[in-house]
Amino acid sequence: MSVAGQVPHGTSHRTPVALDAVTKVYGSGEGEVRALDGISLQLPAGSFTAMMGPSGSGKSTLMHCAAGLDAPTSGTVTLAGRPLAGMSEDQLTELRREHVAFVFQSYNLIPTLTVTQNVALPMILAGRAPDRARLDHAIERVGLASRRSHLPGRLSGGQQQRVAIARAIASAAEVLFADEPTGALDSGTAALVLDLLRQSARESGQTVMMTTHDPVAASYADTAIFLVDGRVTDRIDRPAPEAVARRLANLSSARPVRV
Ligand code: ADP
Repeated sequence: MSVAGQVPHGTSHRTPVALDAVTKVYGSGEGEVRALDGISLQLPAGSFTAMMGPSGSGKSTLMHCAAGLDAPTSGTVTLAGRPLAGMSEDQLTELRREHVAFVFQSYNLIPTLTVTQNVALPMILAGRAPDRARLDHAIERVGLASRRSHLPGRLSGGQQQRVAIARAIASAAEVLFADEPTGALDSGTAALVLDLLRQSARESGQTVMMTTHDPVAASYADTAIFLVDGRVTDRIDRPAPEAVARRLANLSSARPVRV
């Protein structure tokens, strides 16, 4: 897929996120939980993927392993072209600072910083001088130009989530992980946020991995991938909400597939 517009720094023709035969086992003996059971997955540059599945199916564990926040028990993870195995915590932190952005259900904004300061934070943490034009552009793109000097507490939940997305856009991170980003939003506000995530992939070439329970949210993605008991059981390209809802209802009878 050709990507128009700004291409994030450090991006070349490589797979931004790749997992190969990843397993994650918590505990041992009787209490052992196989949260991920042989996941192989590649997310192409500029793609928007929705991870779906029932509660406990492994979506969060998968995202944490893909982002290097958690280490798999076996298998390999490659993030922004680099294999994570053997990296120190410092190296992982630096890789995430340079190449990864996060959007969480809980927004994760600093309450004492203004909108602009929150958006600038990843650049400051990465030791880069905040680029004013890039900050302004990201804040305008999410429709918050008139709120740039407000504190998060003066914004609605939807506006706070748009600040979190502006932060991800401004960071120009190669990979954007969004964990239930619309879980706390009404449907109208959720649509705005999902549109922004789709634009991040289409226009800025960011690779977006989103977890969601919501078939409508998944329909904004290029691909929906379904997890059951830590295995990928299905995928739908260009997912329509009805098709996703039907597939979710039938998940218990699904068999593992490789994607
Ligand atoms: P989802 O995000 O789809 O709800 P999770 O990835 O949170 O699923 O969980 C997958 C499985 O792993 C569940 O059975 C859960 O109880 C288990 N699990 C997740 N994190 C831990 C942990 N830190 N310790 C023990 N078990 C865990």
